[in-house]
Amino acid sequence: MRQTGRGSGEPGATGTLPERGRAVARTDLAGFGLVDDGPDADLDHIVRTAAHLTACKKAFITFAQGEVLHVLAAVGSDTVQTPAATSVCGTAYRNGAPLIVTDLSTDPRFSALPHVDVANGHRFYAGFPIRLNDGHAIGTLCVIDQAVRPEGLTPDEHALLESLTALTVRVLEGRQRDARWRDYLDIASDWIWEQDEEFRFSYISRSSIGMPSGEMLGTTRWDAPSAATEGPAFWARHKALLEAHEPFRDLRYRWLDGDTERVTMISGKPVFAQDGAFLGYRGTARDVTEEERTRREVEHMAHHDALTGVANRTTFEARIADAFRAWEETGATATVFLLDIDHFKRVNDTYGHSTGDDLLVEVARRLTECTGPEAVVARLGGDEFAVLDPSLSRGGAVDEYAAMLLQAIARPFEAQHDVIECGSCLGIAVLPDDGGSFSQIMGNVDLALYEAKARGRGRSMAFQPRMRRQADSRNTLARELSEAFLAGQFDLTYQPIVRLADQRIVGAEALLRWNHPERGRLLPSAFLAALDSGRHSVDVGYWVLETACRAALPWVEARKRDFRLSVNLFTGQVRDPRLVNRVQAILDKTGFRGANLELEVTEDVLLTPLGDLPEVLKALKRLGISVALDDFGTGFGSLNHLLQFAIDRIKVDRQFVRGLGNSIDHNTVTHAIVKLAVDLGLKVTAEGIETDEQQHFLSLVGCDDMQGFHFSRPVSAEQFPRLMEKTDALITRRHTGAPMPHANTG
Ligand code: C2E
Ligand code: CA
Ligand code: CA
Repeated sequence: MRQTGRGSGEPGATGTLPERGRAVARTDLAGFGLVDDGPDADLDHIVRTAAHLTACKKAFITFAQGEVLHVLAAVGSDTVQTPAATSVCGTAYRNGAPLIVTDLSTDPRFSALPHVDVANGHRFYAGFPIRLNDGHAIGTLCVIDQAVRPEGLTPDEHALLESLTALTVRVLEGRQRDARWRDYLDIASDWIWEQDEEFRFSYISRSSIGMPSGEMLGTTRWDAPSAATEGPAFWARHKALLEAHEPFRDLRYRWLDGDTERVTMISGKPVFAQDGAFLGYRGTARDVTEEERTRREVEHMAHHDALTGVANRTTFEARIADAFRAWEETGATATVFLLDIDHFKRVNDTYGHSTGDDLLVEVARRLTECTGPEAVVARLGGDEFAVLDPSLSRGGAVDEYAAMLLQAIARPFEAQHDVIECGSCLGIAVLPDDGGSFSQIMGNVDLALYEAKARGRGRSMAFQPRMRRQADSRNTLARELSEAFLAGQFDLTYQPIVRLADQRIVGAEALLRWNHPERGRLLPSAFLAALDSGRHSVDVGYWVLETACRAALPWVEARKRDFRLSVNLFTGQVRDPRLVNRVQAILDKTGFRGANLELEVTEDVLLTPLGDLPEVLKALKRLGISVALDDFGTGFGSLNHLLQFAIDRIKVDRQFVRGLGNSIDHNTVTHAIVKLAVDLGLKVTAEGIETDEQQHFLSLVGCDDMQGFHFSRPVSAEQFPRLMEKTDALITRRHTGAPMPHANTG
């Protein structure tokens, strides 16, 4: 409702009309709720009393609006309004003080006014301005009689009219309050309701939106047809509360408004009579449909993955918590599946991120489609998805379920222009056996997935306790390894490499050992995998190179530079962009010549290309370094394929050598490998020679060098020169006719 500030203008005393804008603003019929309301019983009563007790024929209550005075109530007249500027009432209104005119026909101020109708009984006039509490006049209360009254009003009559004027003010102020309240209810989304002692609606205020319609009056909230949405249990609870005469706050309930579901929020308190008798309830209600929708959207966003719409990690964690609770209550177990998409990064790199996104969406869709309604499908991040199914526990069904999930993802995906095939692996864990908390179960299912992946594409693995033990010892190992390097617990041992043609030691391979403070001297098989994948491998690798170069420098000199030091590279070194620079720096620092150095790499390192490996190998070549392909035959690469890497030598793996003599197959394969390598111009070293026959066979098929316990186990740097001297002496002796014993006999 519009209203100007208080204290503007001296109330009624100025004798002029307040300026128009303010008058209209202050005294607006609508603002007092006086529009279209028909006759007002209270005001009627007042005018009748005024006329009767002053024995006047006419009485009016007028209300100023703009340039007219509206007649709000009247006796003895059907006049509707009168101009404020040119009427007697107008003068009383403007003066702001009672105006008594003993004879209108003779009073020069009024006799000529158009509305003064003497013939019609306008002779005596008494008018009182109606002023609000703030002093502002808003109209008049007046009486008119047909007889002249030279003595004016009696004091009693004066006092009476004054009280009736004051009463009128009270009535109008009440009307104004009601109007304000109605306005407020119209604007606010709240409405007010009242219920009788049987909880039937006895009153519902108007509201613009979202209110159950008139059907509610006379009925209870739960009996209304729209209440069906919440169901009987909800209303039974509410009814119980009302019957206990308890107040309630912010109770939300859903109901159907035609086809639209609305949500209403109600608060209420019981009303009691003075004697304590329960009268019913009174309260407010509000339409919170929009608010609820926004809340639900925000909630959805907080609990779902934005890209795929399936549950996110938070929700998955909550569902796992539910599953644990269900187990405590009913003993029901639940199964967790974890999977990621094979080579997802490659899909992103090859087809672009939007195709990658599409693929994730499709994976989520397929997983949701093939799992039951009880299952929770979640995207935990990146290309990692999880499924929780509380209806499954251990047993055959789990395997079938796993196969079904894998199949769903193995089906080709139709991208915009391509068909993409990508598989996945699956880890499985059952709670609570495989973990007593969210993080435990997820950690263990992750180990199962890790193992499934190690076994190849499309595999699923159920968690087994040994996986945890292994992982724990891997972790312990990783921690110990970082300390070991700093504590100087590593050292090197050197295995001679012998030329088959004349049995001379022509080189040495540096092999790493770990002097573990508790477990003693450890072979690489005990720690190499952890070291290779850990963060210290590169540092350890360069330490090995430098240490071996220093140790072998005198051996090279002793052999007049006819000596080759072999050093194994870690995966991290092959991928280290500074490999060439660091090798060069070590050569500079130690004075070791590149021509006397051979670096050994394995096939799988070469076959996981990263960076410009052929270029790196060429750069090593320019330093005079040769490159050997270690463990040849254990990987999947073909020799032809490997030739692009400018390899100088292959080392035939121990497992081929071991089979020699026992199986014709092994003989044939080894023979073929050696022949192929020789034809391609590569040098061949055979590893792991333990017997005379093996040595004999390998020299027959054309192997250049050999390495094995048959000749010598790896020895320390101190022992190595003595071993060289000893074999040299033996060779000399052989040349002079003596028999040829093995270096390590005795
Ligand atoms: P590898 O490069 O194939 O090294 C040869 C391995 O075969 C050595 O085992 C050696 O002791 C063993 N060996 C030699 N002759 C015989 C034999 O006649 N019979 C048997 N049964 N074994 C024989 P080791 O020292 O345990 O090393 C194992 C692997 O660890 C090495 O295999 C190599 O791949 C890796 N490794 C060792 N030291 C290093 C290193 O400093 N850096 C890197 N990156 N890897 C290393
Ligand atoms: Ca090697
Ligand atoms: Ca090897």
